[in-house]
Amino acid sequence: MVDKYAVFGNPIEHSKSPFIHTLFAEEVNQNICYQKICAPIDGFKNMVLSFFLDGGKGANVTVPFKEQAYELADELSEAAKSAKAVNTLTLLENGKIKGDNTDGVGLVTDLTASFGSLNQKNILLIGAGGAARGAILPLLQSNITSLTVCNRTHEKALNLVNEYSIFPQVKAREVSEIDSDFDIIINATAASLSGDLPNIPLSSVENANCYDMMYQAGLTSFNLWAKDNGAVKVQDGLGMLVGQAARSFEIWRNHQPSVECQHNVISKLREILESK
Ligand code: NDP
Repeated sequence: MVDKYAVFGNPIEHSKSPFIHTLFAEEVNQNICYQKICAPIDGFKNMVLSFFLDGGKGANVTVPFKEQAYELADELSEAAKSAKAVNTLTLLENGKIKGDNTDGVGLVTDLTASFGSLNQKNILLIGAGGAARGAILPLLQSNITSLTVCNRTHEKALNLVNEYSIFPQVKAREVSEIDSDFDIIINATAASLSGDLPNIPLSSVENANCYDMMYQAGLTSFNLWAKDNGAVKVQDGLGMLVGQAARSFEIWRNHQPSVECQHNVISKLREILESK
């Protein structure tokens, strides 16, 4: 019987996960079934449990269910505990469901591929929502020199950073206090979704590498602004999407999709995005 996987979200029509995982499986001549499942807002837990009872081996989880998946899991990885959110569920041999969060690994892998090693880098993370939360531990584990977190609502950045007070490298700063001392600036806000910009000073992006977690055809509003104001290089979050999927695939199938395969998937997705 073909192994069954799925991505749960609401809405879910836009999801690229079935496409990505099918290409990962083809690389190693494996045959998997990967569906999109739109769960009702109040019916996520029941649908996931039925999926696993019905033979499902693993599931990805996207907006708005990552926190519910965190609550549902019987066991949690370190990354999931830190993110307080789960994007990958796996049925273990003992029948328990394990929750993991692979978004941060996807981000770090793509940052490294785009800008080189993160070793000794000074990083600015803008945002304090779910995506920023998932990024903090993997960034702190990448031998960086400093991680500064700023957010439109400063209190949220302060609260987030307080959870990592054992790491001296991480601090919160008001958006208005941001200077130009950063090697890499990551936009983890939802501002680009509406064509807006986080309100950091112009001078901060000059000579920095800039990364927008959002992706779209052409440059995002943040990357366009950063490029126009002297950023060395800009990159969007399409590689992060593929990187988090690669880590999920590895957890489920015990095989990490090759770098070539991941690049190929990113190129194909980029072509599809640009053709629309
Ligand atoms: P959340 O809703 O959890 O958080 C939104 C964050 O954006 C908050 O910090 C909020 O600030 C800030 N924000 C929203 N609008 C603005 C604005 N106009 N100006 C400044 N700040 C703003 O969203 P997520 O964390 O889940 O997602 C954030 C982004 O990351 C989205 O663009 C999403 O598409 C992307 N993403 C990409 C992934 C990938 O694989 N490439 C994976 C996950 C997310 P405040 O606290 O003040 O409200």
